[in-house]
Amino acid sequence: MAAKREETIGLVDTAKEMIATAQKHLVQPWPTAGDIGAEARGGMVSGDGIYVTDSEGRRLIDGPAGMWCVNAGHRRKELADVLHEQAMALSYNSPWYTMNQPSVTLSQRLADYAPGDLDHVFYTTGGSSAVETALRFMQFANNVKGRPDKKMIISRQGGYHGSTYLSASLNGRPRDHDWMDSASEQVIKLSCPNPFRRPEGMSEQVFCDFLVAEFRTVIEKTGKERIGAFIAEPVMASGGVIIPPQGYLPRMRALCADNDILFIADEVVTAFGRLGHVFASQDVFGITPDMITFAKGVTSGYFPLGGVMISSRLFEDLRRSNHSDAMFAHGLTYSSHPIGCAVALKNLDILEDGLLDHARAISGYFQASLKTLEDLPLVGEVRGLGLMACIECVADRISNNPLTLDLTVGKRIDGHCQDLGLLVRPLINMCVMSPPLTITPSQIDEMVSILRTSIERTQDELV
Ligand code: PLP
Repeated sequence: MAAKREETIGLVDTAKEMIATAQKHLVQPWPTAGDIGAEARGGMVSGDGIYVTDSEGRRLIDGPAGMWCVNAGHRRKELADVLHEQAMALSYNSPWYTMNQPSVTLSQRLADYAPGDLDHVFYTTGGSSAVETALRFMQFANNVKGRPDKKMIISRQGGYHGSTYLSASLNGRPRDHDWMDSASEQVIKLSCPNPFRRPEGMSEQVFCDFLVAEFRTVIEKTGKERIGAFIAEPVMASGGVIIPPQGYLPRMRALCADNDILFIADEVVTAFGRLGHVFASQDVFGITPDMITFAKGVTSGYFPLGGVMISSRLFEDLRRSNHSDAMFAHGLTYSSHPIGCAVALKNLDILEDGLLDHARAISGYFQASLKTLEDLPLVGEVRGLGLMACIECVADRISNNPLTLDLTVGKRIDGHCQDLGLLVRPLINMCVMSPPLTITPSQIDEMVSILRTSIERTQDELV
């Protein structure tokens, strides 16, 4: 078994040149000090459906759908056409003093899908700016309401919310803060709701009680008059696809409501079909947040766009305040971008025209097939929901102890997978998969077979 090669006349030279030029001029995200500005990551040249082709001509299944975003798959002509058409009709307008039709129509369609009274949308350029917008809105609203001390933000260990200063301050994965400053004085982090890593001997239900009690204690100790928001990914994505215990999200939501703390659901990954619905908060978990942040799958990655759905109630509070001249001094040049919104509208059409149904129908097979990998000695757990999944490797199956970081098991598995025709997202001792929603049963079989061989090869290297 080896990755299929496309016709690559000249491509290998191109790959070398690409790397050489990148090493001179391109700064990649998340570099290490030793490599900064001189990294040699693999180059990608084309995509089609669930596949991408790299600059060496290898055809690979795009296991992470880019970065959890290419939900409709690569090379969708409808999306490319609408991008072109909108660019020719109106490529840009200033959101400061004008509007455009695609952003208005999209806001109505998103409001129809959003739960409760989340009827308003503020568009951003991606997920970090969406989270930043939600937090700045919370701060603004509390200033206007005369409670300037109610600003602390509660996030969780294991969570990821972005790379701007405040959004990054909420992150709680290993290494996120080792070398980076953060607004730590504004953030309190609760335990990660990871059932696989719950204290030994504790049932999942008791673990859930413990997590809720921890939040209650933090509220009591800090004072609800100082806490502005709780932010949570319904399923933690880059923390390792962590599905919280049954009942956790509704109970955390209720605690927020009881204490006048805004519940922000960070659905940057879970929305737009990843869990089979446009938004997952209500349809999958039965909760209505005060705000929902989204990005990625909203355009299937064809154009950078994000946003925040905001509850009408919050706007009514502001309108009733004594500060009608108070300004939410926040906006981005590319807020409400007409091309992004036009692409998002077409992407919603695709989701409605069968892709959501397909995602819901195929997810059972996807999860069950990956679960078969749990018979491998290196695999501690395969977990997932919808079309997101994680394989967590362990030092041994009795203790389930994590493997030491320097073994870079995720990267090793990823390397073998790439040799065989699959991209996965390595995360320390884990591999994450979130393929385009168009994936078929036979493509899932192909993925799982490559994963099995790659994990076995990695296991052999470690003994
Ligand atoms: N929130 C979540 C849950 C994410 O997974 C991400 C990115 O992976 C972000 C926010 C940040 O989004 P972006 O990278 O588009 O700024």
